[in-house]
Formats: sequence, structure tokens, C-alpha cells
Amino acid sequence: MLAIKNYINGELVEPIAKTYIDNYNPAKGSVYSLTPDSDERDVQMSVNAATAAFPSWSTTPKSERSAILLRIAELIEKNLDKLAIAESIDNGKPIWLAKMVDIPRAASNFHFYATAILHDATDTYAMENTAINYTLRHPIGVAGCISPWNLPLYLFTWKIAPALASGNCVVAKPSEITPMTAYLLSELCIEAGLPKGVLNIVHGYGHKVGAAITAHPNIPVISFTGGTKTGAEIARIAAPMFKKLSLELGGKNPNIIFSDCDFDKMLKTTINSSFSNQGEICLCGSRIFIERGIYEKFKTGFVAQAKQLTIGNPADDKNRLGAIVSKQHMEKILSYIDLSKQEGGSILCGGKQAHIAGEFEKGWYIEPTIIEGLAYDCRTNQEEIFGPVVTLTPFDNEEDVLKMANSTIYGLAATVWTESLTKAHRVANNLHSGIVWVNCWLLRDLRTPFGGVKSSGIGREGGFEALRFFTEPKNVCIKL
Ligand code: NDP
Repeated sequence: MLAIKNYINGELVEPIAKTYIDNYNPAKGSVYSLTPDSDERDVQMSVNAATAAFPSWSTTPKSERSAILLRIAELIEKNLDKLAIAESIDNGKPIWLAKMVDIPRAASNFHFYATAILHDATDTYAMENTAINYTLRHPIGVAGCISPWNLPLYLFTWKIAPALASGNCVVAKPSEITPMTAYLLSELCIEAGLPKGVLNIVHGYGHKVGAAITAHPNIPVISFTGGTKTGAEIARIAAPMFKKLSLELGGKNPNIIFSDCDFDKMLKTTINSSFSNQGEICLCGSRIFIERGIYEKFKTGFVAQAKQLTIGNPADDKNRLGAIVSKQHMEKILSYIDLSKQEGGSILCGGKQAHIAGEFEKGWYIEPTIIEGLAYDCRTNQEEIFGPVVTLTPFDNEEDVLKMANSTIYGLAATVWTESLTKAHRVANNLHSGIVWVNCWLLRDLRTPFGGVKSSGIGREGGFEALRFFTEPKNVCIKL
């Protein structure tokens, strides 16, 4: 059985403790590889390597850093099929989805930041006849990057690429639940000629490796994507150490559908925004609000289309949904479906584990689930479920729907469907959310700021925001 290795100081190495964690294929519910159960000693080795590499990497001309990162992007593209298959086996998502979204986006992340640094600029402020100020931006040092399991390589590279491009060295931890593509990336980094120690990948549990990165005194900047509870724990440890923090956390995103929308376009996209990647995308719209006049029409069409979504073998391109990432997560989702019934909800479709015959019978699958009849402020409508589960709620007017949409502790993303430009602007302006999509969903321009408000996080990733996050400004004032 393949035993994944850590990538430290340019080499693939065993964890110091020589112990491993079982890594599951969720489509089959069986162990298929082993992940290092690393600890603070492996993190310390990585910090030593990154610290030693920093003086050289941070002063390497941008054009050279860019060339190396572009080579990594090219190698990801060249290995598209291998990486997509690995991502699917590790996470349970359909291979077609990994080929279409996850892996191309991982390559784009490197491509984007490798070229962005060549076009970045800093500020100058002239004081009339007195002085001129200019701002330098310096890389910070060793950056800690911690990522989740839902879009493994996509989100891992979304952090690593800007950190490396801006001249930092990195100690990174992928989710222990989906470590495989990060491991394959370390092989590609070696092939691309990334200097040793510039990127270090330490596999293992959050409470050991993640906690050691968070608490390490020589990691002054941390970029984290994951659950709100974990984000709060990281902030609790990092804040008194005055670490720079970017926290991309959970969501409970509203999808607001007005009766003047383009119905067919909306319905097609809403199927995707509800159930793509088994609903395990932080941007999925889990609370669907429908203007009362089209509620019944929407319900009939949406339920009919959801019932047609096929679930099963992630390698079969006909299947729209694959497996849920872990047994534990499947049970959490099912417990929320039970809760929704206790709270008075009616299940319109799905509502239970899907059993797939043959070699996938032990896999973890959940039917696309639609629930109606719940109060907007019940727990099912307030807490993040992070699975193929959505609720339907009718509304009567803008004021009504904004109150419900803004009622959760979260504020990551929102979707609005209307053909009225004025209404779209007004509603977008009044939503408490870091991202608003109008008449579309998950349409991403990598230059835009990405992140949430309230308990969905602090700071923004994306575009030049990320380059600013991974650098410190220094103002130089010269008297004329
Ligand atoms: P977790 O918060 O459980 O884990 C995220 C990462 O943090 C994992 O690598 C995990 O390791 C690690 N970790 C766990 N405990 C600690 C700790 N004490 N200190 C440091 N690191 C730790 O999230 P999930 O992996 O379950 O991901 C799902 C969550 O991520 C959802 O809430 C989702 O909304 C959110 N998310 C947010 C996005 C955004 O952009 N805002 C995008 C995608 C997901 P391990 O796996 O070993 O526990």
C-alpha cells in the first residue's frame, strides 16, 4: 500500500515518528493508502528548512521565481488525468469534475500568481515641494498554509502560489483526509526545480501538525481555510503572538430567486449551486429563498431535476454526484437531515444514505436532499451542513428575504436571480456577504477579492489582495 511522504527541505521523507494514518477511498469505504502522522518535530524540521531557504528565495529575481512557478503550472497541466483520478479517489468527487474544475484551477493558481508578480506595483505619495513617500513590500518570512478536504489541490495551491510568488517560504498542511494530490504536487515541485526548503508539506492531523504550525514562533503569517470552529481556535493561539492571519471559514449561503428571473437558466444553475461536489463547496447555496409567486413552479421543477441526478462510481462520467468525503462527515449530514424533521421540515426528495451496489456498496453516499417547511431561524437553516442538502423558503418582498438571508452568523457568498438591474444592485448592496453572484454562480475571476464577513472569516484571498497579505509594506519618506 502506498505510504505518502512529507516533503521537507526538497526531499520526500518519512515522518520522524514513523507512524501513519489510514487514508480512505470514500467511494468504496476502504483504506487505500497511508498518510504520515507527523508531529511538531516534522514541523520544526520544515521551519528550519524554510528559514534557511528564505534569504535566497526572497531575493531571487521575480522573473526567476515566476519561471519556476510557471513550470509547476505546466507540470500540473501535463499530469491532469493522473491528478484528477487521484483527487477523485481521495475525496469521492467525480473524476470529470476534478478534470474540469479542481486540477485546471490548481494550474491556474500557479499561473496567475507567477505572472501577477511581474505586473504588481507599489504606491507613491508626493507631498508638494516637501517630500516623496514610496512603499516597499517585503515578503514576510515563513508562511503557514492550512487547507481543507473539499477542494484539496485547488485550495492548497490557492494559498501556496501567492505565498511563494511574493517571496515567502512555506510550511503547508493539507487536510489529513485528502492528502494525495498535495503529495503528488511535492513530486512535481522537485521536477520543476523548486529550490529545497522553499515549500515544505507536512501531512498529519490538524490537532498535531496544524496546531504546531499555528503556535510556531517563527511562522509569523498564517493562511487558513476550513471550519469556523477551527478558525476560532487558530485565532485564539495566533492573535496574542501578533501573527498575520487570513481565515476563510464556513458559510450558509442564501440563493435568492425573484419571480422576474430567467427561470430556465436559474433552475439549471441552482441544481449546480446546490449539489455540485456533493454540496461540499463552501460557496454552495444551501438556503434557497423563492418569491412566493413562483414557489410551486420552482419546487416542482427543482425536485424533478434533483431526482434525476445520478449518484455512484466517481469514475463513471454519467454520475453527477460521487461519494461524501468520510463516514464521519456523512453521519454529520444525516444527523442534520434528522434534525430538520424534528424541526418540522418535510423532505421533498432524498433524505437518506444512497446505497450503491457492487464494489461501491461500502461507500458513503447521500441522495440530493430538498427540505421545505422550516422556519428561517431554526438550526437546520442557521448551521452549516456542507452536503447535498438544501432548504426551500418562500418570501414576499425584498425586506422579508434580506432579513432571512442576513440572519445567520455567516456571510461568505450569496446568489441573486432577477432580470431587474436596479433590484439586483439594491439587493447585492444590502446582503451581508463577501461575494454576491447575480444571475450566475461560481463564476470566478482570480483578480477579485475572495472571502467572507462575520463568522465566514477575516481577510481576503485572490488577486493582488493575496500578494498584499503575504508581504509587509514599508513606507520610505524622502525629504526633497
Ligand atoms: P477543518 O476546520 O476541520 O479543517 C481544515 C484544516 O485545518 C485541515 O487541514 C485540518 O486538519 C486543520 N486543522 C484542524 N484542527 C486544527 C487546529 N487545531 N489547528 C490548526 N489546523 C487544524 O475543516 P474541514 O477540512 O472539515 O473543511 C470544511 C470546512 O471548510 C467547512 O466549514 C467549509 O465551509 C470550509 N471551507 C471554507 C472555504 C472558504 O473559502 N471560506 C472554502 C472551503 C471550505 P485535519 O483535516 O487533519 O483535521
